[in-house]
Amino acid sequence: MARITVENLSTVYPNGVRAVDALDLEIADGEFFALLGPSGCGKTTLLRTIAGLEAATEGSVSIGERDVTTVEPGKRKVAMVFQDYALFPHMTVSENIAYPLRVRRQPKARQREVAERTARSLSLAELLDRRPGQLSGGQQQRVALARAVAIDADVLLLDEPLSNLDARLRLEARTFLKRLQQEIGVTTVFVTHDQAEALALADRIAVMESGRIRQLGSPREVFGRPADTFVANFIGSTPMNLIDGAIENGLLAVAGAKLPSPVDLSDDSKVIVGIRPEYLTLATGAAGITGIVSTIENLGVSSLVTLECPDGSLLGLTVREQHEPAIGSTVTAVPEQGRLLLYGKESGMIL
Ligand code: ATP
Repeated sequence: MARITVENLSTVYPNGVRAVDALDLEIADGEFFALLGPSGCGKTTLLRTIAGLEAATEGSVSIGERDVTTVEPGKRKVAMVFQDYALFPHMTVSENIAYPLRVRRQPKARQREVAERTARSLSLAELLDRRPGQLSGGQQQRVALARAVAIDADVLLLDEPLSNLDARLRLEARTFLKRLQQEIGVTTVFVTHDQAEALALADRIAVMESGRIRQLGSPREVFGRPADTFVANFIGSTPMNLIDGAIENGLLAVAGAKLPSPVDLSDDSKVIVGIRPEYLTLATGAAGITGIVSTIENLGVSSLVTLECPDGSLLGLTVREQHEPAIGSTVTAVPEQGRLLLYGKESGMIL
């Protein structure tokens, strides 16, 4: 096991695309770390550069105390699982899992022993003699994981390992992955564009955009206090409300309402007010944002109610089904204490 240190790392492709841009990052020993971001933000390239599959253009990558920037992939003690699993179709599950040991010329008996032990821990023991074509997507994914953990790597790198699974299997595999990582405690970096997956699995998350890290923090920090409007937009199953506001006579004017400002700012400051739909409740007589109920969407346990406010802005809030207001009624949404966030109008950064 080992920590990963990335210093001033840039990876530029021959076509000039700077996929990773002067990035610094330290991942702790044994940590389960997520690289999260929209398509094209550079997360796969960063993972592949840590693995040595892409060459760093500038900067360095260290695993433990060892600078591996110019070390070939096979000598970095990393195991990687790709999105498409890349299992060998003509080999059995057992042979697939033991493949890295075979390449390292370990004795046959040892190969079989490791394959059986790993398969047992991943509930694959019954499937050792099957070929990948005879397995479900979830089983194939577990074989790929088993193959990766069969070698005692210092670091496990996962590139969207759950993306080929359907929604239900994905949840199951997610729990499985979390348990496996806790059991073996190997430093793990996984790439995902699914914010819910990152929030559910990771000890810490780096939210990336254009080859850089926008925010680094625990799931709670990234969800509860997004560092800028980009992260605020990206994280959360229902999008955060981001509404233009201003400071007037010491109060926060937003969506036709006047509220106490959570941050001391001078009059006329222009801001973007951020509040998650989950942190708004309906109340009468309390200080809040008033609007007319325009739509209600069913989210399962809760409903997403959209209010049209006097200044024309739209405000979403979630309520339990039994508390759904009537369409067309006028209601007041009250922010939970401490949940109102302010962002700079120009900078988009949290204030
Ligand atoms: P996705 O979620 O779609 O896989 P990503 O965040 O993993 O995206 P990367 O695959 O790292 O992003 O790509 C980052 C940038 O580098 C993109 O602009 C992409 O077009 C570009 N890129 C990726 N691979 C190459 C390549 N082999 N040659 C040139 N440009 C590339």
